[in-house]
Amino acid sequence: MDISKSQSYITAENTPDNIEIKTSTRYGGFSTAPYDSLNMGYFTGDEITNVIKNYYYYQNITKTYNIVTLNQVHGNTVLEVNQENAAEIMFSKADGLFTYENNLPIGVITADCLPVMIAGSKCISSLHCGWRSLNAGIIDNAFKLFKKYNDTPIYAYIGAGICEKCYEVRDDLVKQLNPAYKPENTLKETGQGQYLLNMKKLATNALIYNGLNIDNIEITQYSSCCSKGFYSYRLENGTTGRMVTTIQRVIK
Ligand SMILES: [Zn+2]
Repeated sequence: MDISKSQSYITAENTPDNIEIKTSTRYGGFSTAPYDSLNMGYFTGDEITNVIKNYYYYQNITKTYNIVTLNQVHGNTVLEVNQENAAEIMFSKADGLFTYENNLPIGVITADCLPVMIAGSKCISSLHCGWRSLNAGIIDNAFKLFKKYNDTPIYAYIGAGICEKCYEVRDDLVKQLNPAYKPENTLKETGQGQYLLNMKKLATNALIYNGLNIDNIEITQYSSCCSKGFYSYRLENGTTGRMVTTIQRVIK
């Protein structure tokens, strides 16, 4: 399933009331090759002025203003953000954000890693899930923050990332996978110590491990690698742009 070149974002479809989740595509921005064109990654080597123009364009067309993002480091830290500390939290070295605020879009930047967005009745969280951060418990840490605010996740969205046919990993990585997330049903052996790892399934398992019902998990049909219209770090050998995925609770 590909993206039409006139489409600069996709949205989650089964979100709870007032929750908006959007992922940018690579179409409609100002960046030139290999970042063409709607690169939303600040730390990619792209001209920063083009990235800023891309955010202007994107925030206007999506009506998603003042997006808070991080300087992601493949760890398991989830930071609490609110209207008061948003500027300070912006670009912190971490991989997850959590807020009880309405109308505060929090986001992660990806190109193959999975964006995982979680909503409770009051709070929301956005998580950058590569295998390292996922395996190190970033989803568990987000659930702990919901608990801290007496909230319970009722919905999660797993966005466009690398698909189960493209993510080949070695057995030394496989050996490190946390048994709590049932990695055995996310792996397909391809021979010579290589496996295909289904990251969407691993994230689903981690959400279920934390108590979320499978019926309340939405998984996008798009992938960063096999749907045209996204950036893929792996397919483009590491020099490429990024998508931003945001979640916010919109209360007018
Ligand atoms: Zn693929």
